[in-house]
Amino acid sequence: MSGTWTLFVSIMTKLFVVAFLLLHTSASSSSSSSSSPGAAGMLKQLFQYIDDHQNQFVQRLREWVAVQSDSGDHTKWGEVERILNMTAVRIQEMGGTVDFADVGTHQLPSGETVPLPPVILAEFEKDPKKATLCIYGHVDVQPAKMVDGWTTDPFNLTEIKGNLYGRGATDNKGPVLAWLHAVESYQATEKEIPVNIKLIIEGLEEVGSYGLLELTRKINDSFFADVDFIVISDNVWATRNPALTYGTRGSSYFFVEVDGPKLDFHSGVYGGSIQEPMSDLIALLGSLLDHTGKILVPGVTDDVAPLTEDERKLYDNISFDLEEMKSVAGVKHFLQDTKEKVLMARWRNPSLSIHGIQGAFSEPGTKTVIPKQVTGKFSIRQVPNMDPPDVERKVKEHLQQVFSTLKSPNRLRVTATVGAKPWVANLKNPQYVAGQRAVREVFGVDPELIREGSTIPIAQNFQEETGKSVMMLPIGGHDDGEHSQNEKISRYNYIEGTKLFAAYIYELSLVK
Ligand SMILES: [Zn+2]
Repeated sequence: MSGTWTLFVSIMTKLFVVAFLLLHTSASSSSSSSSSPGAAGMLKQLFQYIDDHQNQFVQRLREWVAVQSDSGDHTKWGEVERILNMTAVRIQEMGGTVDFADVGTHQLPSGETVPLPPVILAEFEKDPKKATLCIYGHVDVQPAKMVDGWTTDPFNLTEIKGNLYGRGATDNKGPVLAWLHAVESYQATEKEIPVNIKLIIEGLEEVGSYGLLELTRKINDSFFADVDFIVISDNVWATRNPALTYGTRGSSYFFVEVDGPKLDFHSGVYGGSIQEPMSDLIALLGSLLDHTGKILVPGVTDDVAPLTEDERKLYDNISFDLEEMKSVAGVKHFLQDTKEKVLMARWRNPSLSIHGIQGAFSEPGTKTVIPKQVTGKFSIRQVPNMDPPDVERKVKEHLQQVFSTLKSPNRLRVTATVGAKPWVANLKNPQYVAGQRAVREVFGVDPELIREGSTIPIAQNFQEETGKSVMMLPIGGHDDGEHSQNEKISRYNYIEGTKLFAAYIYELSLVK
């Protein structure tokens, strides 16, 4: 009897311990991620579906890459429309509805007016109780030719050692397809899609998204009215680790024209007797920044947002290797001496770059010309809270002031074009929480929270015009070479990225 009782107690104790451990484990896993064990099982099924269908997903990317939708050449806009149609058909096959929004016409440099390819506005079945996610993407590409130095045909997706080479593979056809495949994984496994999905897909991103800003304003009260979150997957990771992007720099481009004598002169004849436009211009350009990269235009950097302790800490977790970057760039040292300072210089501080001089003699040889007119070109990458019109005013005043000290008889004209305002998102917004959980779910690591040093106007435009939260959730690798020869996406990033989007859709439904 007593032996039986001891056995009973021992079994009950073990059962209790097991039950306690199970409860404890599920509690602690739900504190690191909101996914319940049931959700983990569901995600597993989605991921399994994605793994099982990866060859089909690669084949679909091959079909999309084969369309030469180079938007930079308006004679290929027919191909842009063809890929937009293929995108629309795919969405319709999946049960979505598609609207082609007319964005008007465009005047070519020749004066000829041509109609712009439309923008796709699509949505899947809607449930007013669910949050609504709007996905932005583009299906046009940069030009690509074998003679530019591609090792494989840029429009025939070619897999070599786990990399899928082709124009548009990473920018942006691969990520657009990955979003559609993530939705497909829910449908095919008969899971309810936990958020409403809308898509806005364009075919003119690579030339500056003609008509998109106006369209955004026009559909702000209709298409965007019920949107809670906007996600953009049109950039890449900064290192080998997955990332969420929360900021981009803006830019302004300046032209400094110095106009002098009537004609180009011989330096043997006029040299020494006239004030040369080129020396004026060199003095003006030389006044813009010092050898440490500091911008010398008075007041231009006054409004740069101060660095908070929270923001500073974000830079500790970025696995950026200073030595490797030096060797990639082929430089002995950067202007900053630590990883953190280099990243801040690229992402959260302004920079000024001098790009060229138009009208100057630039051929080989020793032509002894005095150019009559030269135009210097430079740009300033801007960050929050700089205001591009204010920067433009300060730059013009500075250049006029420097020019006045030269006592030059030449004429100075400074003009500017504003590229885009800087963008920064609130990292505490629920969609960043969902994004971080989804990255952990798929990659088992925390994402690096990064910014882009370059200018991606779309994020700021959407945030400013719609007032909605915008996040950039890249899946491309840091070495994908967007816009370059041999652009690629790895099969790993393409397929795991599809899983990331599926997990993100789920995590997003938990945070709202
Ligand atoms: Zn792109």
